[in-house]
Amino acid sequence: MYDYLIVGSGLFGAVFAHEAKAKSCLVLERRGHAGGIVYCEEKDGINIHKYGAHIFHTSYKEVWEYVNRFVEFNNYVNSPVANFRGELYNLPFNMNTFTKLWPEVRTPAEVAAKIEAERREAGIGEPRNLEEQAISLIGRTVYEKLIKGYTEKQWGRSCTELPAFIIKRLPVRYTFDNNYFNDRYQGIPVGGYNKLIDALLEGIEVRLNTDYLKDKAAFDKLAAKVVYTGPIDEYFGYELGKLEYRGLRFETERLEEENHQGVAVMNYTAREVPYTRIIEHKHFEFGTQPVTYVTREYPATWQPGEEAYYPVNDDRNQALCQRYQELAAKESNVIFGGRLAEYKYYDMDDVIKSALEKVVVVCG
Ligand code: UDP
Repeated sequence: MYDYLIVGSGLFGAVFAHEAKAKSCLVLERRGHAGGIVYCEEKDGINIHKYGAHIFHTSYKEVWEYVNRFVEFNNYVNSPVANFRGELYNLPFNMNTFTKLWPEVRTPAEVAAKIEAERREAGIGEPRNLEEQAISLIGRTVYEKLIKGYTEKQWGRSCTELPAFIIKRLPVRYTFDNNYFNDRYQGIPVGGYNKLIDALLEGIEVRLNTDYLKDKAAFDKLAAKVVYTGPIDEYFGYELGKLEYRGLRFETERLEEENHQGVAVMNYTAREVPYTRIIEHKHFEFGTQPVTYVTREYPATWQPGEEAYYPVNDDRNQALCQRYQELAAKESNVIFGGRLAEYKYYDMDDVIKSALEKVVVVCG
């Protein structure tokens, strides 16, 4: 008999298992490897972010110190480049972007005046959706070249039907600063994310290729408590209906060249290009191999059973999620945590923070 049966070996499950180590834990993992979607596959000495690029960034000192106990982080700073029909712009939106978009503009004050003029022209009051939020924040030119196409591809719906908060993730800066994130700490684990996951799970029993929900009653008998990190609706057999996700499809290619695009992340912001970004993985770790791997990332409609990536944050899904959470609260021996069980657009640091807090509450 174990104290905890942990379902899922992604960041939430791995951190929980590590912290609960004084108790006995069994981790079940549906996939053939641990690590959930931060898992990397190594080829030619390059760590390929198999389920999408992950860049660790945080302002929580305690979380940064925590992850650094398990693996060293490099000094990678994410500075993606946007490609709009062959025109290249720095991201996030900053003085480098603005002076290239509007060559007549030189100073922060001139940029502010330009954005203000575009905002006034659009005549937007209190923003009611992502389009209005974007135009009022940054003006119509940036919206049309760098936001509209990308966002509509990414989410499969019009910017007028999307909530404003999605782009609040993106900084707008009046300095020449191409660092995508505002956070205090940033980097990629040296040797890839598997090092972090393996260190967290060291000494803990993990059963791979094991689907908890297929044999739930039998597995439940193995432990006093369950920590469930899978999709919340699937746990309840979809009894209230299905939560929707945005899916992704990845096309990875090995190229016989040392440096293909000169940057880890290039966003393709025009609507007619079917992918949203091309990742060149070696640049996350400053690789010098003679070959390179690039991945084209295509947003996709999602069907249950497929890899679930982004929760769809609209009213219907939020309301449904709320009802599932009410059911979850009644499952007295089950702790629900992580991106899929909480149906949240989570960054890695928030997942870790939430696991650290949860484990203290339940294990003391
Ligand atoms: N976004 C955009 N243009 C870009 C990059 C991002 O309009 O070139 C918007 C888009 O709506 C996206 C959101 O900003 O969904 C968040 O982007 P981020 O890169 O933070 O998302 P993630 O890396 O989590 O996919």
